[in-house]
Amino acid sequence: MKHIAIARFGHEGNSFGSVRATLADFQACEWARGEAEVVARYGGTNTEIGGAIDFMRGQSGWQAHFLRCAWATPSGEMEPEVFEFIMADLLSGLAARRWDAVFLGQHGAMQVVGLDHADAEIIRRIRKAIGSASLGVSFDLHANMTSELLGLLDVSVGYKCHPHTDMAATAQKCLRLLLDTAEGRLRPVGAIVPIRAFLPSINGRTTDGPMAEVAAFAREREQAYGLLDVTPYHGYAYGDRAYAGASAVAYADGNEAKAEQAARAVVAEMHRVRDRLMVRLPGAKEGIAQALARLGEGRGPAAVIDAADHPGAGANADTPGLLRALLVAEPKVPSVFVYFWDPSTVQKAVETGVGGSREFHLGGRLTHAFGPPVVVPARVERLTDGKIVHTGPVYHGMTFDFGPTAVLVGQGIKIVVTSHCLMVTDRTFFELHGIDLASVGLLAIKAKNQFRAALSSIFPTMIDVDVPGPACLDFTQLPFKRVPKTLFPWAEASREAAPR
Ligand SMILES: [Zn+2]
Repeated sequence: MKHIAIARFGHEGNSFGSVRATLADFQACEWARGEAEVVARYGGTNTEIGGAIDFMRGQSGWQAHFLRCAWATPSGEMEPEVFEFIMADLLSGLAARRWDAVFLGQHGAMQVVGLDHADAEIIRRIRKAIGSASLGVSFDLHANMTSELLGLLDVSVGYKCHPHTDMAATAQKCLRLLLDTAEGRLRPVGAIVPIRAFLPSINGRTTDGPMAEVAAFAREREQAYGLLDVTPYHGYAYGDRAYAGASAVAYADGNEAKAEQAARAVVAEMHRVRDRLMVRLPGAKEGIAQALARLGEGRGPAAVIDAADHPGAGANADTPGLLRALLVAEPKVPSVFVYFWDPSTVQKAVETGVGGSREFHLGGRLTHAFGPPVVVPARVERLTDGKIVHTGPVYHGMTFDFGPTAVLVGQGIKIVVTSHCLMVTDRTFFELHGIDLASVGLLAIKAKNQFRAALSSIFPTMIDVDVPGPACLDFTQLPFKRVPKTLFPWAEASREAAPR
């Protein structure tokens, strides 16, 4: 019997987010160890670990051991003590025996205060602990990959889909390659080619647009040339580290030149579409006006999407710009705002009680850097426990706990306020809060592309807006310190600004 350790340690850290990732954030999000806990948390879900559970059930001759699985929703950088605590937990699990293989579900855009390259540090320590055992890692397609990371692994596979509807499938592909490697049937050789550019992800879906073309190209290349895996990595722009940026990674069986050629070809394809990723977006006021105009033409309902404060990009559902613009616009259609993360406001709503009214200060709780709070009298319409189980494609089957949540109604607009900061990507969030999406005219939401997988069919009009926030579209507006300014788009911006 061969033995495989399965673990997860992932986070996406926004260097400009005002809230650091704590141990409580991991414990409140994904936190399980040992088969019983891990199967209870992830069994039947569309996640890496859910995929790993299913995959290993079909592998006779292998025994799976589930070590620490930890994930927190994206936020600011991680406290170093949190990193050390989780690493110690993971390494103590690995120390229990000799392994034939180790699988880790990582993200690839972790930032830890004081560490240059947290994702590489995880792999360095695991490699030291497991010696020459085969090591396979799955990554988000927003990972910032490096040659050092690749050199420490036997094989890696990244998500191919954005929205991320292929988490379980990614882990299963990685596990298949990993087990074949451990059993001596494969010798994966990887190559990475960086694109030396920061690419905004707002127009980076693989369902349509430029990255769909890159994804199709990579898939065709993988099949036509018999490669083990070809992943275009979009990279994560808000992690201020010297190595950050987009890249392509390819694996071939024992053939480095073949892997390198494929990675180069994919990067060339990314260069080809690069300028189409550099979209310009309307501000909140203009975007809402466009949405209302389309509603007038019968092209509703409409969603106005504020990605600059998207919790899935490490922002905090706290910036007030979108709600302020919505209140000024005074929409004459049923309108909903999702959401602010503000436990103290929820507490005030609980004290006020359903049906009661008072003045609320909304947004700008953590910082006024993106504008002061919006002050609005509102009625408390509904209070919930904030717990949902996803029924849509992203994180299918997973429980999400937004904590005590309030639905307020101010100026006729439903405004949701939660106690925990998570991504809204599933229809069940609206159902729990008594929001019938069929009767909503205008939805203003802090989200990005993940949300589209379950909700785009409801909203014929979706308008992305750029509002001041920690995950704003124009990177040159953020105070980067470590990213080389020789990279696109800084290099381009400085060329444009130079006197002629
Ligand atoms: Zn991602």
